[in-house]
Amino acid sequence: MVKESFEYVDITLLKELEQRLEEREEKVGKIVFKVCPRCGVRKQIYQFTTDRRNTNGRTSVCKKCKIIEYLKYYYANREDVLLTNKRYRDDHKGQRTIYFKDYKEDHKEHLQKIAAIWYKKNKVAIKKRNLKYYNANKEVCDKRRKIWIENNEENIKEYNRQYKRKQCMKKKGVKR
Ligand SMILES: [Zn+2]
Repeated sequence: MVKESFEYVDITLLKELEQRLEEREEKVGKIVFKVCPRCGVRKQIYQFTTDRRNTNGRTSVCKKCKIIEYLKYYYANREDVLLTNKRYRDDHKGQRTIYFKDYKEDHKEHLQKIAAIWYKKNKVAIKKRNLKYYNANKEVCDKRRKIWIENNEENIKEYNRQYKRKQCMKKKGVKR
């Protein structure tokens, strides 16, 4: 799943951040360019990651090249990367949970927005993947679903009530 999460950061979050930076720089009227030594392309400065150790505050290699570099490394060393990540997760379990909990709470709306964009973009692929997973793990999935329904009975009822209400309003042509 690492590829998906990576794409998710790359495509939606990075693009959004970059666009915001671009707009800000345009407003200020100072667009600075830099040549990436890896791909040899002259790019705007926001296409390089911030790096305080560098004199101009940016890495020498551009974001896109860094991503390609990382993906190449990832696919060449997939087992190692996954193992290292797992080891790190196991070693930092408590810390990570607290950190992510805080982060999730502080950025709830932002994360929901990104997840929605990502879902919309990858809807077909996600549905296909889920169906494939379901067909391969039917029994486990059905069991899990049953437990989930039991645990969320009240929420489901409330959701259905809201849904019915919305449908009803739509029929009447009332806009909320
Ligand atoms: Zn480059």
